[in-house]
Amino acid sequence: MEPIEQLKNIGINTSQKIHWNLSELILVTQTLNRQEGVITSSGALACDTGEFTGRSPKDKYIVKDENTADSIWWGDINQPYATEDFDNLYNRVTNFLSNEEIYVKDVYACAKKEYQLKVRVITQNPWQSLFANNLFLRLTEKELETFQHEWLIIVVPEFKADPVSDKTRKHNFTIINFTKKIILIGGSAYTGEIKKGIFTVLNYILPHEKNVLSMHCSANIGKHGDTAVFFGLSGTGKTTLSADPTRGLIGDDEHGWDNENVFNFEGGCYAKCVNLSKEKEPEIFSAVRFGTLLENVRFLEGTNIVDYDNISVTENTRAAYPIDFIDNAVNPSIGGIPKNIFFLTCDAFGVLPPISKLTVGQAMYHFISGYTAKVAGTEAGITEPQTTFSACFGKPFLPLHPTKYAELLGSKLKENNVNVWLINTGWSGGAYGVGERIKLSYTRAMITAALEGSLDATDYIQHPVFGLQMPSKCDGVPSEILNPKNTWNDKSAYDTKAKNLAMQFVQNFKTFESFANEEIMKGAPTTI
Ligand code: ATP
Ligand code: MN
Repeated sequence: MEPIEQLKNIGINTSQKIHWNLSELILVTQTLNRQEGVITSSGALACDTGEFTGRSPKDKYIVKDENTADSIWWGDINQPYATEDFDNLYNRVTNFLSNEEIYVKDVYACAKKEYQLKVRVITQNPWQSLFANNLFLRLTEKELETFQHEWLIIVVPEFKADPVSDKTRKHNFTIINFTKKIILIGGSAYTGEIKKGIFTVLNYILPHEKNVLSMHCSANIGKHGDTAVFFGLSGTGKTTLSADPTRGLIGDDEHGWDNENVFNFEGGCYAKCVNLSKEKEPEIFSAVRFGTLLENVRFLEGTNIVDYDNISVTENTRAAYPIDFIDNAVNPSIGGIPKNIFFLTCDAFGVLPPISKLTVGQAMYHFISGYTAKVAGTEAGITEPQTTFSACFGKPFLPLHPTKYAELLGSKLKENNVNVWLINTGWSGGAYGVGERIKLSYTRAMITAALEGSLDATDYIQHPVFGLQMPSKCDGVPSEILNPKNTWNDKSAYDTKAKNLAMQFVQNFKTFESFANEEIMKGAPTTI
């Protein structure tokens, strides 16, 4: 079928121009011509995403129909949306597009060919098309000629839903229809909705239909072929820590784990840029060049040099680049069964040790808990960090019940000999406001030591509350910081905080107790 007929078939028929799979250069040029972006001193394209500078999880819906009614984990993460409402909204969106220029980008997800998911991304502007190009896996000219999509993403930032007739919460929405294989994104130009939309789809298809574990993690591979994965919620260090000059990058955010491999879902990275520096994060810093899309950054006055410390638009400034912009990325983005798994948590209470080793039971307990604590931000008067428990370190993206992912991980940990480590990339020497964030160079040194096996020969001490094994020595790291209590001036304040955090773990875990066996429950902290 002719490409234009393919669009007509899905109800898209515009009087304006249709741009088919434009190159990076043309997408950048058109963005500049439309005055929707500027070129920075390193050659990247900088755009603003407008009203939304982050995802909007409360405005995400899944169409509830006979396919999904019994399989989706319905609730505030996965809110049901009626088929009729979807069909109405879809018609309204395609109608809206009938007077708009549209950009088509054909890409795929999943680096392992067996699971390849062909995706057509339709956007209203060229820089969102560049995002799709950079973040997903790219096809050759020849492959594009015969491309037929399986999934369709339509992104219409300028379309506003009517909450009353469209049955949405607000004017913006992300709606996934598993039966029609369509993701509709409206009212928001935040590109993260696009990538996390397909992530949600794969978090359904892979475990549910193919028995493959899908993971919110980064992954890299050592010279001897040992794979490491890094699970963690937003801001805990997945992207930063997986970019390691001594290891090949597999991917920075979304992966699958089948019987033989860990494979990336994506073809690019979406790195946070706040305080980005050449010294601390050289790989990411130099990936910001021509072809990269920068979002919501600001410049040093009177120049086009990006001021990464400027967070006047948002703290969530981002760079979206194809994975091969990182020098030692592996191609294809596939590794073997992991030898090491790191759970990254940014504990702003300063309670958890900077590195500790977990038993299988503890690993399962912490995976299901998915703990991190975020600092409240820059608001005046807020000094207490906010505790977050996000199952499987990725609750907002899980269409299935967390126990599905936990079961898959559990059997993989049992079948394979994997070391599991908990890394606190957050505070040391006291909670936020008193202590400081652990130095990135120390966290890197601890991870290197774990990967190179040098922690195998060290003595461990058990954390009295969390039961985690803390190494007493680690190359490149001052020994006194390995036990967090040592870094606090007020030891009894530490004990109080540790107990307090343990209580929150226990409280949060109540909803999962019926699923957990004795081994997992032994991984819980003590609260007496
Ligand atoms: P997302 O899921 O939103 O992409 P992420 O897990 O990939 O989040 P990163 O982009 O790696 O998170 O963000 C970690 C941020 O924390 C970076 O800006 C990094 O410079 C900073 N940071 C400071 N100290 C550390 C540390 N000790 N370890 C890791 N990151 C640190
Ligand atoms: Mn990331």
